[in-house]
Amino acid sequence: MKTQEELGVPVPANKPLIVRTIKYVTKEQREYALEKTEYSMFSFPADLIFVDFLSDSGSGTMTDFQWAALFHGDESYARNKGYYVLLEAVRDTFERGDDPKKAINLILTGETDVKRLMDELYITSYEGGFVNGGTHQLVRPNAFIVPQGRCAEHLLFSTIAPILKQKNKDITYYIPNNGHFDTTEANIVANGIKAINLFSENLLDDFPYNEMDRRNPFKGNIDVKGLENLIQDKGVESIPLIYITITNNTAAGQPVAMKNIKEVHKIAEKYDIPLFFDACRFSENANFIKEFEEGYKNRSILSIVKEMFSYVDGFTISFKKDGLANIGGGFFFKDRGVFHRKFSIDEDIGIKLKERQILTFGNDSYGGMSGRDIMALAAGLYEVIQEPYLNERKSQVREFARKLAQNGIPVILPAGGHAVYLNMDKFFEGSDMRLEDLGGVGFTIELLKNYGIRACELGPFAFEWDKKTPQQRKGILNLVRFAVPRNVYSASHIDYAVAAITELYHNKEKIPKVRISRGAELRLRHFQTGLQPIYND
Ligand SMILES: *Cc1c(COP(=O)(O)O)cnc(C)c1O
Repeated sequence: MKTQEELGVPVPANKPLIVRTIKYVTKEQREYALEKTEYSMFSFPADLIFVDFLSDSGSGTMTDFQWAALFHGDESYARNKGYYVLLEAVRDTFERGDDPKKAINLILTGETDVKRLMDELYITSYEGGFVNGGTHQLVRPNAFIVPQGRCAEHLLFSTIAPILKQKNKDITYYIPNNGHFDTTEANIVANGIKAINLFSENLLDDFPYNEMDRRNPFKGNIDVKGLENLIQDKGVESIPLIYITITNNTAAGQPVAMKNIKEVHKIAEKYDIPLFFDACRFSENANFIKEFEEGYKNRSILSIVKEMFSYVDGFTISFKKDGLANIGGGFFFKDRGVFHRKFSIDEDIGIKLKERQILTFGNDSYGGMSGRDIMALAAGLYEVIQEPYLNERKSQVREFARKLAQNGIPVILPAGGHAVYLNMDKFFEGSDMRLEDLGGVGFTIELLKNYGIRACELGPFAFEWDKKTPQQRKGILNLVRFAVPRNVYSASHIDYAVAAITELYHNKEKIPKVRISRGAELRLRHFQTGLQPIYND
């Protein structure tokens, strides 16, 4: 008889004990609301939607462990207890592998032994890693809590841009990535630096859906040859940082292989360039490495995460993703590592970053987060590396993609970690829909109007195809993303979505072209512009 693991269906990882009733809204009501909200996905009231795949960002369900932790939140202005718990959780998650200390339990179990609390939590000393502790964090700050991932990006790029100018004001700087997320790219560009996407060459290759459980080509990898060429071509001085996004959200949520991370690490080391992760979905990425990369089957998620992070010099992260929290972000870099050495010119770079953090978000012990959110986030870091959870999540996304593929829908395969992506070039193949007609946007409008399902275009509209040079346009894919929030939806939501998407696919000639009716020139415009679908009848 097969074991529970061999059944080919993941072991259930949780059970909901609280539910929210979805309102019954008619197509006519949604049609009215769409018209009144300029047909923008970002302006449509969430309460009127049946299934919301707009984003997995901060939209997940928290566990009972997190809600319990939340009650221990401490709203003190300076050095709230959650600050220490969170720093320990970050050390546990990214540096300690199979030996986490779980100091959070001191708080959750109501420890009253003051000496123990001081020795293990409040009066500790760490240096040499991603999170200095005690006076080392004061002298050489290297851990920055902020409300979101983009705040970490803003903090980083707005602080290093003037330093780069000071180093050499006459050159153009480039930051390569396996796929810049939209806010990352916008923060880089807003600070006068160029953002380069080096997608893996196999990204859009076909992949048979019945092999998704057997192998994975790690299409999220960075194009290593392209990276070497870029450095050679532009010169080492022009590349202040190299970024790897795990998983590669912009490239269809595809994972990055440990082998790829190691290769980039070697290149970064050779040229003495700091290598950073955009670490938003580190544990989902680690789970792909465990399942598909040779030599990792018997390793724990934590030990894989530790190895991944041993190859980088720092990371920005949105804890709203993998971290299972509703809010939170951070920036961490190696104490006295490459970044620290390269950017501490007149003054310690950590001190400069901290000054900016205080100016924009608040002092370093809360960074714009409430004490409650800090505790929920710290607890979430222990939940998100649990394998039953990761396996069930991964398989839900994979099933979503498999069912779409079985119905003939052009979905990018294999499925990524957090979302399913449709290839809209293929979706509209054979029709007169051109890239500039924004067919992906038209599709999302029809899906919301007819079936109450919200998805997100990540293509010529979101990535501003019309504002780019022919060279830059090569870095743009034409996708629609269905991001799956964590622990929110069940198979019935997925089945409803698959049926609706399939129906629209069979009626694609009814999908309208779309024009931008207001604010085409705005930056990050998919959050703010008005749209107008053009119906033929
Ligand atoms: C969401 C995301 C960000 C930005 O994080 P926010 O918390 O939304 O500001 C950056 N990079 C990637 C890969 C992301 O998915």
